[in-house]
Amino acid sequence: MEMRIKEAIRYLGYGRHAVDDGTFALITEVFRELDQIKCAKSVYRIFDLQVKGADQIEIGGWTVTSKNLSKNLTGCDQIVLFGATLGTEVDRWIRRYSLTDMAKAVVGQACAAAELEEYCDDCQKKIAEEYQRQGRYLRPRFSPGYGDFSISCQETLMRMLDCAKTIGLTLTGGGMMTPTKSVTAVIGASTEQQPCHIKGCEACEKKDCLYRRSS
Ligand code: SF4
Repeated sequence: MEMRIKEAIRYLGYGRHAVDDGTFALITEVFRELDQIKCAKSVYRIFDLQVKGADQIEIGGWTVTSKNLSKNLTGCDQIVLFGATLGTEVDRWIRRYSLTDMAKAVVGQACAAAELEEYCDDCQKKIAEEYQRQGRYLRPRFSPGYGDFSISCQETLMRMLDCAKTIGLTLTGGGMMTPTKSVTAVIGASTEQQPCHIKGCEACEKKDCLYRRSS
């Protein structure tokens, strides 16, 4: 089974229990539609990083206060700022179904979330390959809103990536991302090789890792 289908099933709350045939067929159909309308875009920029203490880091000239992030980035000297989106049409598509077919709208939300996650993982793998050629290794993605990395940092991160121009991603007055199926994150890069899991520390088996992120 495709990874994104497995993830969508998990987001729908089926856990380890087998999903029924009808729901499975609906998920497959929704992914087919999603593949037609998504317009995935991403952007990343690399900055010098200084970990200034147990709860402070500096990215370019930007100071961020976060214990969780500082811990995860210890040993890193560069940082990748990353943004990705599936595009505005996906929001319209889900909104249309929420008026006409609620079951499909719910499955659409789950499939789009799984699709976005997979797209981000693919982008991160490509960045990691480039970095490996320079003898650097990536830590897991870390998004504003995770642990004590304030959600308000999203605004600066998006400005540093020029997200409005590069991938069409903006913030509403209320601080919501539009398109909604979008992600911003930072990814540390270090010359020390760690067996980092693409799905992040929660999925990683290195339980005694010094850099393990925790919320
Ligand atoms: S716990 Fe695993 S994924 Fe997290 S920083 Fe350590 S090696 Fe990387």
